[in-house]
Amino acid sequence: MTHRAALALADILAARRRIAGIATRDTPLPPSPFLSRLAGDDVLLKLEIGQASGAFKLRGAANAVLTLPDDATGVTCCSTGNHGRAVAYAARARGLRAVICMSKLVPEAKITGIRALGAEARIIGASQDEAQVESRRLADEEGFCEISPFDDLAVIAGQGTIGLELLEQRPDLQTVLIPLSGGGLAGGIAFALKTIKPSIRVIGITMERGAAMHASLAAGEPVAVTEVASLADSLGGGIGLENRHSFELCRNHLDDVVLVTEEEIYRAMQAHYFEDRLVCEGASAVGAAALMAGKVSGRIGPTATLITGRNVDMQIFTDIVCGRDVALGDTIIKGAPHAA
Ligand SMILES: *Cc1c(COP(=O)(O)O)cnc(C)c1O
Repeated sequence: MTHRAALALADILAARRRIAGIATRDTPLPPSPFLSRLAGDDVLLKLEIGQASGAFKLRGAANAVLTLPDDATGVTCCSTGNHGRAVAYAARARGLRAVICMSKLVPEAKITGIRALGAEARIIGASQDEAQVESRRLADEEGFCEISPFDDLAVIAGQGTIGLELLEQRPDLQTVLIPLSGGGLAGGIAFALKTIKPSIRVIGITMERGAAMHASLAAGEPVAVTEVASLADSLGGGIGLENRHSFELCRNHLDDVVLVTEEEIYRAMQAHYFEDRLVCEGASAVGAAALMAGKVSGRIGPTATLITGRNVDMQIFTDIVCGRDVALGDTIIKGAPHAA
């Protein structure tokens, strides 16, 4: 049996102190009157869209970059966009060179954001897994430190700081809805929440198209899925067949995983815009999508849904706001105006 380090609450508490200079802590948790009315219980929005990089991933990236060895000179990662932007931001704060490897599925807006931070953006392959081959090569052959977007204990501990904040802000929370991709976010937060308050219900939400963690949990081991275009582009990508941490954490600490359709994500993005006055990307809207589609079963009690990022392609976003059709890869999502 190989030795595997485990996550501890102390790691998350240490991360919270460490990330202070780079990531914003204690982000707001306002109520959503619209979702609260719909659900019949308080629904609160944990707003990570105010992070300097536009998404929560700055928490994990900051913790990982700040725990690198002193002699580190450069960092690399593969990314669906937001992790890369966060690593670029944190690397610049520490004076390190950053090379971000992304597939051609990553929206232009995210690539531009990364270049603006002075990092090199390398577009390589048709999927996140192919981009990862390049970041691994940079680590093996050119001495870069590789920071996984979700399967790294420092990253997971950084994301877990959101769990500490949620229970400080609303100790009475009974349900937390977490957008789910590689599971670093859901794994870290669920671990923190369940350690502090075992009765809390934690639900991962992801899109039907290419849900790698969902398929892996169902199979009982990490499996590969075909990556396809989604409005929730930040939730794309596999979990890695050699997954070391996030799969186990999600398996042990998530109560359920709910899948939402592209149409449901579309309507939830509209609802967040018109009802909550929020510009958020598709990945951020999956919690609302699940609530609006009646896919979260039972009485939810006070509930938080994570608004994880705002790095949306503005052309797609304005199309959605205006109720127009959106073409995504080989499918068309039928548009309709928002109906309150
Ligand atoms: C990365 C990301 C997620 C999912 O996080 P994982 O740790 O990969 O599960 C959710 N929302 C946004 C906006 C993201 O960038």
